[in-house]
Amino acid sequence: MANLTTTITPMTEERRAEITACRAASTPGRWYWDIRPRSNSVSLLSANHSTVLDATRWGFGGATIRMIDAQNHWLVSGIHEDAEPHPGRKHHAGWTLTSRRPDAVFIANAGVFVDELLEEVARLQAENNRLENEAQQYVRGAQKLAQRFTDKPAFSEYYDAAGNCHRCGRFFTVCNGCHE
Ligand SMILES: [Zn+2]
Repeated sequence: MANLTTTITPMTEERRAEITACRAASTPGRWYWDIRPRSNSVSLLSANHSTVLDATRWGFGGATIRMIDAQNHWLVSGIHEDAEPHPGRKHHAGWTLTSRRPDAVFIANAGVFVDELLEEVARLQAENNRLENEAQQYVRGAQKLAQRFTDKPAFSEYYDAAGNCHRCGRFFTVCNGCHE
């Protein structure tokens, strides 16, 4: 079996902390889509039915996503309102921006988070299997060793306290054959 532990690098504590923080900053719990044909509305709602995301008009011909406001967590507002330059691309800010709102960041990274966490689970399971096999080998070794001692009868069954053979009466170093 291929040893995954040598091919996959463990997730660093820093990365785990990053993912944890990103998730903690996002709206907690399970989210669900609420699409209402009668009012032509679409929303992503949280478990307690607050809006994570919905859509609204932007100008005459466009649309934007509304999400929980970065400043006022009771409001939803267009994410274009506090859009920021892409990391390392300030010089492109005139034509493309991104959102740093917690839920927006979490949504954008969710796929990568799942990939990385699944890889870590696979690595840990492989590591766990390897350790379990190793432990079983030790147990089998210990059992064999224990068997060798229990299979060997006690000295006193063959020789008396002075070391003489019960059967031939000779000292145990010169008794040969009685107990083989
Ligand atoms: Zn003997």
